[in-house]
Amino acid sequence: MNNYFIILASGQSKRFNSSKPKQYIIYKNKPLFEHSINKALASKLFKKIILVVNNKKQINKKYPKNVIIVKGGKERSDSSLIGLNYIKKLKPLNVLIHDAARPNFTLKLLKNLIESLKKNKAVIPTVNTKDSIKYKVKKQLFNLNRDHSFSTQTPQAFRFNDLYNLSINQNAKIQDEATLFIENNLKVKFIKGENTNNKITYKEDINSNKIFIGIGFDIHRLIKGKELYLGGLKIPFHSGLRGHSDGDVIIHSIIDALLGAMRKKDIGTLFPDNKKKFKNIRSTKMLKPVIEMMNKNEFYINNLDINLICEQPKVSKYRDKIIKSLSKLLNIDSSLINLKGKTVEKLGLIGKEKAIACEVICSISQ
Ligand code: ZN
Repeated sequence: MNNYFIILASGQSKRFNSSKPKQYIIYKNKPLFEHSINKALASKLFKKIILVVNNKKQINKKYPKNVIIVKGGKERSDSSLIGLNYIKKLKPLNVLIHDAARPNFTLKLLKNLIESLKKNKAVIPTVNTKDSIKYKVKKQLFNLNRDHSFSTQTPQAFRFNDLYNLSINQNAKIQDEATLFIENNLKVKFIKGENTNNKITYKEDINSNKIFIGIGFDIHRLIKGKELYLGGLKIPFHSGLRGHSDGDVIIHSIIDALLGAMRKKDIGTLFPDNKKKFKNIRSTKMLKPVIEMMNKNEFYINNLDINLICEQPKVSKYRDKIIKSLSKLLNIDSSLINLKGKTVEKLGLIGKEKAIACEVICSISQ
């Protein structure tokens, strides 16, 4: 195991539009570059891991002894050479060069790269290009044939001596180390990259997959002479739910869960009890402004899980109808909604059929 892993984290992130260079931003609870360190450590494939940064003071955490932090250069190729020069004295056999902006590679990819180096001097992961690419020469436009083009990713793996000799003789700016081999007509082995191993380039790349969870709970007393509404559906029953509105515990819990996930306080703030205009309001009407708030902020629902807690009516009898009603009200596919019925062994107010309660958990994305 004479392998070394160099992580380049000294870019200027011109396209990232943030006061902090992107390699230091927090991504999935850790600085972006730390994902690559942790994976390299977990793989146990490397003698040393070299993190090349533009300001060592910005790294205030202690890492294991085999993680070395060095100050990089002006351009990517300068930083890469600084990393290579650092490990040269250790007489490495193989070196992997990686962009800190790709935190989502797998350990399997690392293993494949090292394995392929046994028979090759340069091993590069690639993926097929998804977009149609045009290129311009002087004023003329050309189409790039998608079947013959692909994107290169990192980590890129090399025999140290071959990469080092090319690097010290390179003067022009290069975008990756594979370019050195290709421009010198040297053989490069391409292996299958990973579609999930995308480079984080723009702020949107980070926020696109965020998931938020919300929880809601509600309980109303059952009283004679009122109609029962559950999930917006009128259900024949001897009593209805007492409340300022129609007392629909399912919708009230959904509203609180959605507001919670959006971090917008609660149903009581949105519909104060003491406001006359909300008296006897149908809960479906209360849901509307919440859905509008979601749409306006570009949230969408991933799923809802509902526990309806009562002895009667039996949930199994109305499950499909309630789910259908909710899917219409929320404008989502019914397959995203789950409704469970729960009895309480005749205990307490709910057990004596004097109240119905509901809890909802929801997941939304933006
Ligand atoms: Zn309520």
